[in-house]
Amino acid sequence: MASENHSDLIVIGAGPGGYVAAIRAAQLGMSVTVVEKRSTLGGTCLNVGCIPSKALLNASEKFEEANHGHLAELGITHGKAKLDLSKMMASKDDVVKGLTGGIDLLFRKNKINRLVGMATITEAGKVSVDGTEYTADRILIATGSEPVSLPGVEIDEDKIVSSTGALELKSVPKKLILIGAGYIGLEMGTVWSRLGAEVEVVEYLPRILPGMDSEVASKFKTILEKQGLNFRLGTAVKSAKANKSGVVVDIATNDGEGEKLTADIVLVAVGRRPNTDGLGLEQVGVALDERGRVLVDEDFETNIPGIFAIGDVIPGPMLAHKAEEDGVAAVEIMAGLAGHVDYDHVPGIVYTAPEIATLGKTEDQLKEAGIDFKKGVFPFMANSRARAIGQTEGFVKILADSKTDRVLGVHIIGHEAGTLIHECATAMSFGASSEDIARTCHGHPTMNEAVKEAALAVDGRAIHI
Ligand code: FAD
Repeated sequence: MASENHSDLIVIGAGPGGYVAAIRAAQLGMSVTVVEKRSTLGGTCLNVGCIPSKALLNASEKFEEANHGHLAELGITHGKAKLDLSKMMASKDDVVKGLTGGIDLLFRKNKINRLVGMATITEAGKVSVDGTEYTADRILIATGSEPVSLPGVEIDEDKIVSSTGALELKSVPKKLILIGAGYIGLEMGTVWSRLGAEVEVVEYLPRILPGMDSEVASKFKTILEKQGLNFRLGTAVKSAKANKSGVVVDIATNDGEGEKLTADIVLVAVGRRPNTDGLGLEQVGVALDERGRVLVDEDFETNIPGIFAIGDVIPGPMLAHKAEEDGVAAVEIMAGLAGHVDYDHVPGIVYTAPEIATLGKTEDQLKEAGIDFKKGVFPFMANSRARAIGQTEGFVKILADSKTDRVLGVHIIGHEAGTLIHECATAMSFGASSEDIARTCHGHPTMNEAVKEAALAVDGRAIHI
């Protein structure tokens, strides 16, 4: 029941978790109020995350292709491409503006009440927005996450930037040091490398892309090195200090060797933390885990009845599509429906060139769990479409249970891997075997045929290799 300051549901945060939950709740007949402290909707994802980063990845890839690609081999020659960075940034901003404005329209279409301001929960069923009290039968926390830094490294979003500052640089740095070799850092590092920066990656672990399949990560590192990125793995950053001319980064290898590096810009991409500041969770008594994430049960309800949470602020992969799935499931459960998220099959994608896509268990995880598996690998070099379009780097790897043949994991590095993975996501959600994928007729010539061939390879019967 909606009255002036009362709704069935108050959603705090309008990122992909919150705004999607709000729309689905409205579809289900609830009166919904969304409180968002930003002036625009869409959260991290649309404003300073997925969307602006992909817009810059696309633009920088085109610039790279124009200057260092293989157009001449195709008989296309042109002069040297020049960079107008402010225009590239403006085009990225336009994409963001269009999409965040689109959520506004969706809110109006679904009669969602929108409040701009900082929300604090004062007790179950009560939310204060910049001093005004609103009430609801249920409250959904969807406040997302924020970048973190390291001790001795203070982000000023000028010379020492987070991913947010890295989306807004005013000029191409001569040298950029990237701290952290996770997907967000590598995507942004790739953008600036393509636009002309010398990029050096400092990572504490002895590998890049922690958590992803190690064979894929190792291939990816080789490809990135060919593209010009330099890596210092097994290296800790002790401090980074900005001065007039740039930043001095004090590093130490795992053997204790120290060194000072200098750069124009340092990008800190060492992870994100759940955003619960100022929400009032402590005084209301909402339980958090040791990493500050809001604890929820299988219905997304916290220990305080009537207060729910979804997305980056709860445990699980910090990904937009996972937040959306959480949001839909949470409000469907509130409405008495059978909301459900298949956490075993959440794709993880890195939007570099080539792309990386990963789904289900990695080889390392299967070995650690003592699960017997068969492995089928097919290289894009042997795929006719990949050859025709000059995108032969990478491979598809399918891991299937030795006894049942059920597909347990798929890991792809290659052109449009992020699109290819979704046939496997559908197949795995339906419990497919590698035989099921192998016997599915795939169009020719497509990159997807490499998925079919990898499935055939699980049983040692790939055709084109
Ligand atoms: P958020 O999107 O973080 O939204 C939370 C919102 O809550 C924010 O708008 C915030 O202002 C608001 N808020 C917080 N506290 C309050 C309060 N007290 N009152 C009012 N409002 C409040 N994920 C992918 O899946 N694919 C990608 O390609 C991808 N790329 C990324 C690139 C970058 C550079 C970054 C930083 C992230 C990327 N992500 C990507 C991660 C993705 O953005 C997040 O997983 C996703 O946005 C989480 O959604 P959410 O709804 O949980 O929270």
